[in-house]
Amino acid sequence: MRALEELASLFTRLPGIGRKSALRMTYHLLKADQKFADALAERIRKLREEVRFCSVCGSYTEEDPCPVCQGVDRDRRIICVVEQPQDVLTLEASREYRGLYHVLGGLLSPLDGIGPDKLRISSLLQRIRDAAVPIQEVVLATNPTVEGDTTALYIKKVLEREGVRVTRLA
Ligand code: ZN
Repeated sequence: MRALEELASLFTRLPGIGRKSALRMTYHLLKADQKFADALAERIRKLREEVRFCSVCGSYTEEDPCPVCQGVDRDRRIICVVEQPQDVLTLEASREYRGLYHVLGGLLSPLDGIGPDKLRISSLLQRIRDAAVPIQEVVLATNPTVEGDTTALYIKKVLEREGVRVTRLA
């Protein structure tokens, strides 16, 4: 059946979903309440419409700038640099950090052709230069992988030339 096959093959394009799980999900939708299937379809359709990137920090947001960038209770002297938008959500959930964020959108990976120009590094520099409250510290929170370390080292070099204190999150 084409309709069944097509949906299942779309599911297999999601991370961690093999053909078996994809078929199980498809059969489940055939059996499930129509309202559930409709709600799921509607949510998927609206996701990209409603969740966008913050024009300041690059995090996911429904309002631009995001609540963190707009927050009056945030410490505007500290910027935490992370790899992906979802890293902001993880750090926010811990409720320990009260500064600002900057999302790189990836890590340096010369073999994959990802150089500094592909990441949001120049916008970080611009932000630091234009900051109304001078930035006292940039915390690098990239993962402790080869790419994460390479990226952190590169950003540290660039920012120290600007006279900004750079630390690495343990
Ligand atoms: Zn933001």
